[in-house]
Amino acid sequence: MTQNTHPALPEFEYFKPETLSEASDFLSRNPGESRPFMGGTDIFVRMRDGFMTPRFLVDVKNLNGTNDLHFDPQSGLTLGAAVNMNRVIASPEVQAHYPLLAEACRSVASYQLRTRATVVGNICNASPAGDTIGACLALGGILHIHGTDGARQESLGSFFLGPGKTTLKPGDVVTAIRFPLPPKKCSGTYIKLGRNQLSDLSIVGVTAFGHPDSSCESGYRFRLALASVAPVPLVPVEAETYLANHSITPESLREAASLSADACSPIDDVRGSARYRKEMVRNLSARALAEVWKNLN
Ligand SMILES: Cc1cc2nc3c(=O)[nH]c(=O)nc-3n(C[C@H](O)[C@H](O)[C@H](O)COP(=O)(O)OP(=O)(O)OC[C@H]3O[C@@H](n4cnc5c(N)ncnc54)[C@H](O)[C@@H]3O)c2cc1C
Repeated sequence: MTQNTHPALPEFEYFKPETLSEASDFLSRNPGESRPFMGGTDIFVRMRDGFMTPRFLVDVKNLNGTNDLHFDPQSGLTLGAAVNMNRVIASPEVQAHYPLLAEACRSVASYQLRTRATVVGNICNASPAGDTIGACLALGGILHIHGTDGARQESLGSFFLGPGKTTLKPGDVVTAIRFPLPPKKCSGTYIKLGRNQLSDLSIVGVTAFGHPDSSCESGYRFRLALASVAPVPLVPVEAETYLANHSITPESLREAASLSADACSPIDDVRGSARYRKEMVRNLSARALAEVWKNLN
């Protein structure tokens, strides 16, 4: 069999609605045949490779505030769905208050790709390897969604159902992601292990975030998120709970890293074996937690 080395995009119709209601109506009237898109860096590749063949692509950029990046010192950051990753990285407010989000965006592919790629597209694509999802989970991201019944909000924590699967229904368009104000004296890091420094998906990605919290026995709350080691972006809850309830020491951080590795269920694929991934989760979780702890002191 000869391999098609120059695959082309299948035919599709482009639809540019004027309003969110028009977008939701069109998407709900054409379930299974239509998809919204932002930067197109995922969807066009998937269409070209034959994994997806929507008849209609609905361009939801530039609708009602989706291009806005807004920081409010009382309520936090609202990141419009169409804001590309380079804008997130360059934002002084993101750098000052959500440096973890900027770091996660910087780990995605190249500058060129990030002029198109969006954080919301990364989330809606629901790949377990999505590099910005861990930061969004750790920072308590809340999705703003416009559907046929109007607007609603959904916590990112319950959004992912499986690879490429989310709680979004036909007609739903994510308009923004909102992050509450970060806790005082917090610190976070994202460690991405890839096969190269540029344009590769993660073999394993570990996000760690921590802050003082007097409601925890240990006096600190840690959040962890793991990429590429489960069918969904994974929060190893046991590791987080362990650190909330035990004094923070080098030993307890290492124990939490082991719990983090226990929580994941990676697969073998072209980027790495399941065994290697599990070990890397242990090592990188230990490294990420130690780094966060050092910055908190
Ligand atoms: C060369 C290359 C390198 C890459 N490297 C990385 C990498 O290092 N790390 C990484 O995480 N990803 C990587 N990616 C994947 C991709 O760039 C990211 O996932 C990106 O963030 C997707 O954003 P987008 O705006 O382009 O999404 P799109 O392609 O526009 O959309 C992605 C999916 O989300 C849905 N969607 C988009 N917007 C909305 C919305 N507002 N409401 C509802 N659903 C919506 C679409 O229907 C589609 O299914 C790479 C891709 C390429 C081509």
